[in-house]
Amino acid sequence: EYILNKDYFIKVIEDLAVLAEEKKDYFSELDSAIGDGDHGMNLSIGFREVTKNLDSWKAEDISTLFKNVGTALLDKVGGASGPLYGGFFMKFGLPVKGKEEVTFDEFIEMMETGVAIIEKRGKAKVGDKTMVDTLRPAVDALKAAYVDEKLEPKEAMKKAAAVGSAGSDSTIPIIAKKGRAMRLGERAIGHRDPGSASSTAILAIFYNNMP
Ligand code: ADP
Ligand code: MG
Ligand code: MG
Repeated sequence: EYILNKDYFIKVIEDLAVLAEEKKDYFSELDSAIGDGDHGMNLSIGFREVTKNLDSWKAEDISTLFKNVGTALLDKVGGASGPLYGGFFMKFGLPVKGKEEVTFDEFIEMMETGVAIIEKRGKAKVGDKTMVDTLRPAVDALKAAYVDEKLEPKEAMKKAAAVGSAGSDSTIPIIAKKGRAMRLGERAIGHRDPGSASSTAILAIFYNNMP
């Protein structure tokens, strides 16, 4: 059976921290166009806190590991993305409490749980020009690809990541109905939503590290 073990999830967290540094300027530039220019800085502050503590969390089970990541983001990151990504990671491990490895069915449940809390907290729907435009279609595609189309796990995640990336592209020609970009009205048209860009990069990390 296909298994994702704790080493996989730890590597994902390490890569997320690398991403937050490498793409800091890019995410903030996107946010400068339609927000307040701090999206990259917010993620960087959050994941620096994660990096600082990750070694001391490595003995924890997968659920607790992600609860700690989420709590760090929630504590350290101001702005919209703190509670949203913080909530995602806090809830991500809930379906697999106490486990040291998970099945792909469980992984899909974790993704669904994480995305659902973002939707609940932010009240954004697909088409509102937010990270939900990446995450909701990606998780739906993940389920469809694995459960209905019966693709191999990594192939299913590849598809999900591609759908999420297309979802981010779909934020470019539209106005925002949530978040700071809402105030810009039509002036938001032509710009990619920064949260949808960071979500796309996060999905790519989950995909790339899969065995
Ligand atoms: P802030 O806008 O408070 O400065 P960030 O710049 O870190 O926070 O994050 C902005 C991103 O958060 C947006 O690009 C968008 O994707 C996401 N976002 C903002 N509001 C919402 C919401 N209500 N629901 C979902 N995502 C949101
Ligand atoms: Mg911002
Ligand atoms: Mg801000």
